[in-house]
Amino acid sequence: MPTTDLIITGSGILGLATAFLARRQGRSVHIIDRSDRPVGSSIQNFGHACFTGQSDAAQPIASKAREGWLDAAAATGLWAAETGTFIPAMTEAELTVLEQFAAHRGPDQVRLLDPEAIVEAVGNPDLPAIGGAHLPQDMRVDPRQAAPRIAAWLAGQGVEFTWNTHVTAVADGTVSTTRGNFHAEQVVVCPGYQLTSLFPEIAESHEIRICSLVMSLIEAPQHIPTGFAMLTGTSLARYDGFAAMPGAEALRHDLDEREPELRGCIANLMVTDIPQGLLIGDSHAYDLSPEPFIDERVGSLLLDRATSMLGIERPRVLQRWLGMYADSPTTNLVLERPDERTTVAVVASGIGMTLSFGIADLILSGGTADL
Ligand SMILES: Cc1cc2nc3c(=O)[nH]c(=O)nc-3n(C[C@H](O)[C@H](O)[C@H](O)COP(=O)(O)OP(=O)(O)OC[C@H]3O[C@@H](n4cnc5c(N)ncnc54)[C@H](O)[C@@H]3O)c2cc1C
Repeated sequence: MPTTDLIITGSGILGLATAFLARRQGRSVHIIDRSDRPVGSSIQNFGHACFTGQSDAAQPIASKAREGWLDAAAATGLWAAETGTFIPAMTEAELTVLEQFAAHRGPDQVRLLDPEAIVEAVGNPDLPAIGGAHLPQDMRVDPRQAAPRIAAWLAGQGVEFTWNTHVTAVADGTVSTTRGNFHAEQVVVCPGYQLTSLFPEIAESHEIRICSLVMSLIEAPQHIPTGFAMLTGTSLARYDGFAAMPGAEALRHDLDEREPELRGCIANLMVTDIPQGLLIGDSHAYDLSPEPFIDERVGSLLLDRATSMLGIERPRVLQRWLGMYADSPTTNLVLERPDERTTVAVVASGIGMTLSFGIADLILSGGTADL
């Protein structure tokens, strides 16, 4: 008979958030990961918890997720800033989408800013913004700290970790691995973009592929405040919440004409800070097996556009990397239960940090969501 209540495959933010909530419920938890520490999508990202920009349908999950991040921060001591997101509007089309979004969501979620206020928030007196917005509910975490900190805290709470161990199959409470079989009452599988190697049928039914993103870390100038997050016009065209506004179509045409190179690399131009510097990205390319090469033109383009908005004349690049996450053209969330004891959960879009704790709550409560 199994002695563990819950085995979780994957020590990314989704597996860890699930373990955090399960431990709070008093359940015994065992996490198995092929790596020797979290190194997947969950450390490669912006650490931007973009609750507000998610679709209306996702708002209940986003709100649970926000509670979860605040709880986890209080328990584990991980850094989580309630600093919100700033969005400068550089054109009438961008401003229109922000105004429509503000009218739709109300002032608790969206505060419109005049040009002086957004220029001050971004810290660049020469930014030719015509207005902007602040999304006060959004949060920031440090992606290089959050998952390792939660994992260490869970280990201290008695959660068992088996690292360097590849899970090869999961069914009916049995987890087969390269170190033998483990058994539990329930098994939750959160393998991120490696879903295809474990549950190929589920991956194929959602057309799961890998999205790769060009990212940079640059030295931060002093004028950027801690907890900074900036989205731009390309973000307004991309996140479901903004993109549902009636003005989004005109914004996309405007961007196609004004910024064809950014649109060509499917950019979501955005910036956040971490203690080591400023994170700048990102582009999107889709493939089943991406090549590892970073296109320098794409990296330079994103750097150029972001630093010119921030008024940074000579950015010093500290790191570049190709981030990867699971993507599906048909859904933002794969949440399936192939047998009574198994749940498979993969965020199939670039919103897994944001929604992690909300999805973990769905996983454990047996819920579903159409995102
Ligand atoms: C560049 C970039 C920027 C992003 N920006 C944001 C952002 O600002 N906000 C946001 O909300 N989201 C963002 N995302 C998306 C977010 O990072 C992901 O959605 C999220 O981290 C997915 O978490 P996960 O736990 O599902 O996957 P992962 O963090 O990839 O974890 C999966 C784990 O499963 C393990 N594993 C897989 N297969 C097996 C196996 N067979 N056996 C054992 N272990 C296995 C892996 O080793 C890994 O540790 C971004 C992603 C990237 C790459």
